[in-house]
Amino acid sequence: MSNGTVIVGACQAGFQIAASLREKGYGERILLIGEESYAPYQRPPLSKAYMTGDPSIEKLLLRAPGFYEMNKIEFVSGERITEVDLRGGRVVSAGGTAFSFDHLALATGCAARKLPLPGGDLPGVMTLRDIPDALEMRERLHAAENVVVIGGGFIGLESAAVAAKLGKKAVVLEAMDRLLARVVAPPMSDFYAAAHARRGVTVVLNARIERIEGDANGVRGVRMQDGSLLPADLVVVGIGGVARTELAQQVGIECSNGILVDDRARTSIAEVVAAGDVATHRDLYGRATRLESVQNAIDQAKTAAASILGLEEHYTAVPWFWSDQADLKLQITGLSTGYDNFVVRGVPDSESFSLLYYAGDRLIAVDSVGKPADHLAARRILAAGVAVPKDVAADLAVPLKSLLG
Ligand SMILES: Cc1cc2nc3c(=O)[nH]c(=O)nc-3n(C[C@H](O)[C@H](O)[C@H](O)COP(=O)(O)OP(=O)(O)OC[C@H]3O[C@@H](n4cnc5c(N)ncnc54)[C@H](O)[C@@H]3O)c2cc1C
Repeated sequence: MSNGTVIVGACQAGFQIAASLREKGYGERILLIGEESYAPYQRPPLSKAYMTGDPSIEKLLLRAPGFYEMNKIEFVSGERITEVDLRGGRVVSAGGTAFSFDHLALATGCAARKLPLPGGDLPGVMTLRDIPDALEMRERLHAAENVVVIGGGFIGLESAAVAAKLGKKAVVLEAMDRLLARVVAPPMSDFYAAAHARRGVTVVLNARIERIEGDANGVRGVRMQDGSLLPADLVVVGIGGVARTELAQQVGIECSNGILVDDRARTSIAEVVAAGDVATHRDLYGRATRLESVQNAIDQAKTAAASILGLEEHYTAVPWFWSDQADLKLQITGLSTGYDNFVVRGVPDSESFSLLYYAGDRLIAVDSVGKPADHLAARRILAAGVAVPKDVAADLAVPLKSLLG
C-alpha cells in the first residue's frame, strides 16, 4: 500500500500543497501535519483588521473544516514533528507518533525573531506570529496606554497603526535611519514616516535601545542608550523572521537562510520538496531569495505539488505583496533589491502614488500606495517584460496599463 505524501507544517504553503495535489489529480493518501491547534489560517489579518475587528477565528481559516474531509486530506493538528527518517520513510512527532510517507513536503514556515536584549522576555513584550500571539496582543493592546513597537518593518508599522487607531500612545523605534529600509527606496520610507506621524504615531529613527524594564507583573518601559525611558505597557517586537529549517538540517538537506530549493521546489534531496517562508529559491534574477509572503507560499506550493506528481512545472511567478497600515494600502510587485534608480509617479503627500524601480533602464519592481490600477498593471508589465520608459513612468496622464497594448 502506498503511504502517499506527508506535509509537515499546516498553514498557507502546507495547505496549498495538499489542495493542489488533489486539484492536479493525486490519488494517494495526503497527511497534513501541523503543530498548531488550528486548521490552516491566514496570518495577514493578525496585525491588521483582526486586532480591532471581529475576534472570531472562523473568518481566518483558509477553508471550512469540511474541505479536508471532502478532499480526503487527513489533517492532523497539535503534532510537532521532531524527527525525520528519510530511509525509513517516516516522520515522528514529539509525542512519539510515527507517520509514514513516500513523499515528504516541508512547509514549516518561520518563527518571529525574539528581542536579544535584557528584558526581552518580560510579560508584555511580544512578537506576533500566530493566533495565540494575536489573542494575547489584542487583550494587552486594548488595556494598554503606551505601546512601543520595536522595528519599523511591515508587522511593526501595521501594529503601530492599529495601536494609534485605538487611541493609544504609539512609538515606533527603528534602528536604521529610515523605515522599511530593507525593502523600499528612501522616498517610500520618508512617506511612511510622515504618514504615520500624521496619524499620531511617533517614529524614532536610529533608535538605540539599552534594555526593556519591568518585572514579573509586566513591562514598564524601554530604556534607551541615552538614559531616557519610554513608558510602555506593551512592547511589540517586529524584527523579522527566522526560517524553521531544523528538520531539513537534521537530515542533511542544504540550508542557507532557509531550505534551498530549485525552481521546482525540490530540496538538495530531490524527493523532498519545500515551499513558503521556509524555502530559499533563486529569484527571477538568479539571487538566493527567501520571501515571506502569501503569494510566494501559494505559488511555490503549487510548484511543489507538481514536483511530487512528477510534473515539470517551474516557479517563475512575479512576486507581489501588500501591507495595510492604517487606511493606507501598499502593494508591491517585483523585487527591488539591486535597483540603481527609481521614478516617483505622483505626489507622495497625496497618499496616492507609485515608485518604479529600475536596474539601468529595466523596470524590476513597483510599489504603489493607494494606486491599485498601477499595481495590477505593473504585475502584468513585469510578467510580460514590457519596457516602461522613465518619462512615461512619471507621467500620470499615461495609465500604466496602456503600455500593455
Ligand atoms: C502578523 C503577520 C502579518 C502578515 N502580513 C502579510 C501581508 O500583509 N501580506 C503577505 O503577503 N504576507 C503577510 N504575512 C506573511 C504570510 O503570512 C506568510 O508568508 C505565510 O503565512 C507563509 O506561509 P507558510 O505556510 O510558508 O508558513 P507559516 O504560515 O509560518 O506556517 C508554517 C506552519 O508550520 C508549522 N510547523 C513548523 N514546524 C513544524 C513542525 N516541526 N511540526 C509541525 N508543524 C510545524 C507552524 O506551526 C506553522 O503553522 C504576514 C505574517 C504575519 C505573521
